[in-house]
Amino acid sequence: MPVIDAHAHVTSRQFADDREAMLQRAWDAGLVAIVEAGDDVASGQRALELARREPRVHAVTGLHPHAASRMYEEREAMQALLDTGEYVGVGEIGLDFFRDLSPRDVQYEALRWQLELARRHDLPVVIHSREADAECFGVLAEWADHVGRYLGAEREIGMLHCFAGDAALAQAYMDLGFLISIPGTVTYKNNNRGQDVARMVPLQAMLVETDAPYLAPDTHRGSRNEPAYVVETARFVARLRSCDVDEVTDAAAHNTARLFGFTI
Ligand SMILES: [Zn+2]
Repeated sequence: MPVIDAHAHVTSRQFADDREAMLQRAWDAGLVAIVEAGDDVASGQRALELARREPRVHAVTGLHPHAASRMYEEREAMQALLDTGEYVGVGEIGLDFFRDLSPRDVQYEALRWQLELARRHDLPVVIHSREADAECFGVLAEWADHVGRYLGAEREIGMLHCFAGDAALAQAYMDLGFLISIPGTVTYKNNNRGQDVARMVPLQAMLVETDAPYLAPDTHRGSRNEPAYVVETARFVARLRSCDVDEVTDAAAHNTARLFGFTI
């Protein structure tokens, strides 16, 4: 059963002391790939360095909405990273009106700029949307209209990382050509909305992710998350859907590989 963590930050400082051991636990748990997401130029660079020495790690890079106000200084460096041709996607990018760490108009500008970058590089996007459901959907619907539903060879145009919206919003995103990524928070007892989404999204449109080191699933709640734990999330989703865990992990792994254009 191939397992893929569709979104993690394993180069973050939370893994400074045991990064190699943590990666080994992931491979031992059955993972065949991890998609490592940058938040800015520095973390995007670290993601690429790791991907160069560990072929099971695939790097995406983008300016997170928290860092959107650094767009003016980091614009050229971000473009240069993507020009290497070694990244499999642009992200994580989006809107975050929960923490509002960058002014909202700048967040919009950074998102639109990076959507255009993705189009130019023919890459899928990794979207972060928090307390900005309608606004983020509006921008992405406009972009999807412009780029079409597929990147070519039936590849979807992006993924909603840590999807936290309701089933109707998940359906609307799937209609635009996005995949829905289920995080470890689905395992939390009161997360009815997340569980509804995990039941409703067809397996061919679903990804599973950790967002490690954040958002650990229930049995590790409150402590550091790591890619090996994505198996717990998949097992929980399988239970919700009354199917075999292999069905969930197989589908999610193939969807992730197809989206980002790598083979497993
Ligand atoms: Zn993330």
